[in-house]
Amino acid sequence: MDLHCHLDLYPNALELAHKVNKQCEFTLLVTTSPKAWLETSKKMKYFSNIKVALGLHPEIAHLKYDELSLFLDSIKNTRFIGEIGLDGSPKYTDTFELQIQIFDKVMAECNFQGNKIISIHSRGATKEILNILVKYPNSGKPILHWYTGNLKDLKVAIKLGCRFSVGLQMIKSKKGQEIIRNIPKELVLLETDGPFTSLNNDFLYPWDTEKVIPYLAEIWECDSKECFVQLNSNLNLLLKSNL
Ligand code: MN
Repeated sequence: MDLHCHLDLYPNALELAHKVNKQCEFTLLVTTSPKAWLETSKKMKYFSNIKVALGLHPEIAHLKYDELSLFLDSIKNTRFIGEIGLDGSPKYTDTFELQIQIFDKVMAECNFQGNKIISIHSRGATKEILNILVKYPNSGKPILHWYTGNLKDLKVAIKLGCRFSVGLQMIKSKKGQEIIRNIPKELVLLETDGPFTSLNNDFLYPWDTEKVIPYLAEIWECDSKECFVQLNSNLNLLLKSNL
């Protein structure tokens, strides 16, 4: 499984999609703008194991703000939302207020419709993300992707019903491991964030998430098989409609 992958941004995306659809049980293709979602949805509609999420990446909020109404109108047409969220890094200080406006409006609409699966970017903005999530408890199932916040906010996120998608980079870092140790294992999912991540000078691909399993097995003190069973059950629960 890969719960956060920019499959449309790899070179030869379509060719790759065939392979991913065959090899991977479930891939959530997150888009960076509503127009990209429209285009990519058309291209990917024949791949039953790939779901295309409607997104507006916070790093380009200022460039895609004019697509917000398309975003809000499109939410009713999909269960999968992402990548959305906030980026509080110094580089994006100027657009932070705008990012908040967009994220709040999108979450309000998700809350109105309910039952969405939402992949959320929260770098440097955990508190602001949580402040908005708490306002919209009926949006569905938020997944914090590549969580990098502190352990106190992590507790709040868990209480709010967040899930967490974790990848190879995260689990190889000390801080990432500490975070994962503090997440109940029922709430853990896998991701690559490819093609923005790499391994041995090549992109990470959705099937590479299985490389996370030995690390998780160590943290959870179980064998790889149990780990795999746990993750599969987490995925099934995520995708079930009414839980
Ligand atoms: Mn991403």
